[in-house]
Amino acid sequence: QLAPIARALISVSDKTGLLDFAKGLAERGVELLSTGGTSAMLREAGLTVRDVADVTGFPEMMDGRVKTLHPKVHGGLLALRDNAGHVAAMQEHGIEPIDLLVVNLYPFEATVAKGADYDTCVENIDIGGPAMIRAAAKNHAHVAVVVDPEDYGKVLGDMDQHGGKTCPKFRRKLAQRAYARTAAYDAAVSNWLAGAIGDAAPRRRAFAGTLAQTLRYGENPHQSAAFYTDGSVRPGVSTAVQHQGKELSYNNINDTDAAFELVAEFDPAEGPACAIIKHANPCGVARGATLLEAYKAAYDCDRTSAFGGIVALNRVLDAATAEEICRIFTEVVIAPGADDAAMSIFAKKKNLRLLTTVGVPDPKAPGLAFRQVSGGFLVQDRDNGFVVPADLKVVTKRAPSAAELADLLFAWKVAKHVKSNAIVYVKDGATMGIGAGQMSRVDSTRIAARKSADMAEALGLAEPTVKGSVVASDAFFPFPDGLLTAAEAGATAVIQPGGSMRDDEVIAAADEAGLAMVFTGQRHFRH
Ligand code: 5GP
Repeated sequence: QLAPIARALISVSDKTGLLDFAKGLAERGVELLSTGGTSAMLREAGLTVRDVADVTGFPEMMDGRVKTLHPKVHGGLLALRDNAGHVAAMQEHGIEPIDLLVVNLYPFEATVAKGADYDTCVENIDIGGPAMIRAAAKNHAHVAVVVDPEDYGKVLGDMDQHGGKTCPKFRRKLAQRAYARTAAYDAAVSNWLAGAIGDAAPRRRAFAGTLAQTLRYGENPHQSAAFYTDGSVRPGVSTAVQHQGKELSYNNINDTDAAFELVAEFDPAEGPACAIIKHANPCGVARGATLLEAYKAAYDCDRTSAFGGIVALNRVLDAATAEEICRIFTEVVIAPGADDAAMSIFAKKKNLRLLTTVGVPDPKAPGLAFRQVSGGFLVQDRDNGFVVPADLKVVTKRAPSAAELADLLFAWKVAKHVKSNAIVYVKDGATMGIGAGQMSRVDSTRIAARKSADMAEALGLAEPTVKGSVVASDAFFPFPDGLLTAAEAGATAVIQPGGSMRDDEVIAAADEAGLAMVFTGQRHFRH
């Protein structure tokens, strides 16, 4: 019983596709109402437009804070056309129905992302826009609401199919999208405020993101998937620029994030570092005098697993490193920049995805981490824990040497990024063996040592690379067995949180084996 669309209110900040759409509407006999900037643009294009100010009888005021907030607008959006009382109210108050609302909001998220000052961000909180969107979406029985330029063509198409009307199913879909947009918008405002007041706690936070990308599929081909961003300005996979290669997949995004967050543990000012990730776990992490050396040392930890991996660097990619990376198949490389020579080397590898970021994220910065469970999700602070040498407690008779201490701290940073139970052997600033994701800590210890032995054999070395290494454990050794396994493999020093009921037994075993051991007092579970 709905009449064809006769009147549309258009008020948009993002003017993409606006003219074609407005022309399309005008050609279909739709009267256009519009706000200041939008009106001006439409008029300039030769379209006939009525200003909302003429409809309301009020000028736009207070720097645009009040433009459309008026019963003539909201009544026109909210009135039920088939309700006698509503129709009478419209007549009594001279309210004209608005059948189509086209609004996109002040670019709040983009303003925050640009690093604008506080007052500018506040001024970019759209009030009238969301109010109209919510009104029109509530009245989707009668009104169509469009918040995304991508839908403009679909609206015209739907009108053409239905004699100038839109179909109820389509209006419901548009309403659903509209509420998703206003929810995400308010969440972005709330989260920005949380940052501004320095409260990153998971309590009382709003959760919504902005759709950044629909992905071809999820973790597996039968799962559909999408990538949402939360407006964060943290350098990383969500804010990186992709220079070449196919679109990132769900798994690529997940692994690239893991890789870059790990390599960010190593301050670029303190020297080059490289992390190679497979299935969200590192298979090699190293520092080096040059980026090339760091990459090679990371690669040498586990060459088999590094194949098809994700490489993260903490410094601008140079030609020598790019050349070396090209020797094997790599899915993604992420770095805080790439020089021209490196770019032209990669240009020959069409399938290799290169992402560059503006800098490296701060591993100590606060933030939130999510985990889905059936029926909800868990939220916690991101693990931004770290230790400095002064936090370490030497618990054995022998204290670690300076070289051992440096490697222990390196191993500890890596262990934070390895799925529990995590065991990481390190020598001379490079991982020698990584045991990840085992249900038993002893198994992780054994696996890491065995992988190292395999690698030593492949490299033609006389003995396993774990000989003379140090070892990190993400959580305490509940029994001496794991620790003794590491000692047997050749580790000489241990870093672990401590805090087991059997710490005394574990320390005694370490002393007997001649190990140096330090407690961090902090653990890094990563399940
Ligand atoms: P224009 O470029 O047409 O001057 O402004 C368009 C923008 O104004 C749109 O993003 C729309 O959401 C927003 N807008 C429309 N009405 C109001 C209002 O009453 N208050 C505020 N703060 N923004 C409004």
